[in-house]
Amino acid sequence: MKYPFLDLRAVNEPFFAELKEAACRVVESGRYIGGAEVESFEEALAGASGVPFAVGVSNGLDALRMIFRAYIALGRLKQGDAVIVPANTYIASVLAITDAGLEPVFVDADADTLNMDTRLLDEAYTPKVKAVLTVHLYGRPCYDERLREFVERHGLILVEDNAQAIGATAGDGRPAGSLGDAAALSFYPTKNIGALGDAGAVLTADDELARTVRAIANYGSDRRYHNIYEGFNCRMDPLQAAFLNVKLKRLGKECERRRQLAAAYDALISHPCVRKPRVDRPDNSVWHQYAVLVPERDAFRAYLAENGVGTDVNYPVPPHKQPCYARFSGLVLPVAEEISDMVVCLPVSACTSVDDAKAISEIVNKWEYEY
Ligand SMILES: *Cc1c(COP(=O)(O)O)cnc(C)c1O
Repeated sequence: MKYPFLDLRAVNEPFFAELKEAACRVVESGRYIGGAEVESFEEALAGASGVPFAVGVSNGLDALRMIFRAYIALGRLKQGDAVIVPANTYIASVLAITDAGLEPVFVDADADTLNMDTRLLDEAYTPKVKAVLTVHLYGRPCYDERLREFVERHGLILVEDNAQAIGATAGDGRPAGSLGDAAALSFYPTKNIGALGDAGAVLTADDELARTVRAIANYGSDRRYHNIYEGFNCRMDPLQAAFLNVKLKRLGKECERRRQLAAAYDALISHPCVRKPRVDRPDNSVWHQYAVLVPERDAFRAYLAENGVGTDVNYPVPPHKQPCYARFSGLVLPVAEEISDMVVCLPVSACTSVDDAKAISEIVNKWEYEY
């Protein structure tokens, strides 16, 4: 591939010296659970996100799971409560809801933003709904006045799945991860800030929630050998925290680079059958993915591959159509289902240059599609 979709070795290569130094620091520290690396990462992450508390955890799914488990432990949610979630999302968003014994209520997507269509919130509401899990898919915050007003009117808890949008800002200028009551982040290696393994974090301004998440992720103990919850072991590994202390410093530049690539695609792709995502303000999305919609996706991807362009599909099957969720398979969520049939992600990783994006756009424009 001349234009690989993603090459994680190449993405991390500029950091190799610092990452090796960070690994050595941990090896020689004698501290292999918790400690200074995790604490300094939590502090840096909270600062970068404009949120008072950050709790490092094992991965993004666990970050979401710990948030819902903590709300249940605190009596602010109870099993059987319903949680609104976008139909177009990664399955982890939904797994966290059902893991906690909560009931997902799927809201269909908006074909312009590919995020949850907030115009559909009112018809999704029932008195069982106690929370909204908004997902900032592909790096674009899913947060607007309609969502804010809906949550306020019904007194709902607002949780953000911010696995894909670290560094993005909502329309009101606030950072993704600071918009609701709690946010989950993932540092899975392919994310905009990726660890060299699994890692995640919970962000919140609620100190009681932060303490509860920390306790539940540490066997449910608030102090050593004193267990107030039936907890889990979902802590952030200090080795990953040390790597992330290196990578987080690049956040501003990483967002900037992705915005330049998206701007190039937006300016140059002009194929009538390739539907581009709407660009709002330039600082809105951090473009975890540049996702376009095309008819005959397989032919489009094969054509791009022949021309050296790697692509990916996020995601080919929506959660409500997955075998594990057969109980939701009768739901009809037409826009999300159409997106899953048509979506293709173009390269936006650190191994893609603006010149590459220009060349890729030209290749896209030359696709001979019979219509
Ligand atoms: C990656 C991702 C997760 C899960 O994070 P992991 O660290 O892989 O467990 C959850 N939600 C979304 C939207 C994601 O992209």
